[in-house]
Amino acid sequence: MYKNGDMCPICGEGTIKVERKPEIFGYKGQTLTLELTVYSCDVCGEGFFDNEEMKKHQKTIKDFQRRVDGFLNFS
Ligand SMILES: [Zn+2]
Repeated sequence: MYKNGDMCPICGEGTIKVERKPEIFGYKGQTLTLELTVYSCDVCGEGFFDNEEMKKHQKTIKDFQRRVDGFLNFS
């Protein structure tokens, strides 16, 4: 959605820095690591995620939770 050097949509002054960071989701003792795109601003220091990417990850997280539930039910 954003790229390096884009204007910060929160303060309108800073520029966006794009980073990829591993984020760990835990569910019933199981963990899932996702590579997330994180935007941060050099002026206001605000950090936020990519909405489009988060939407895609929502499905991945749901599938993961379903797998964990299935696994626990069968054991
Ligand atoms: Zn900003």
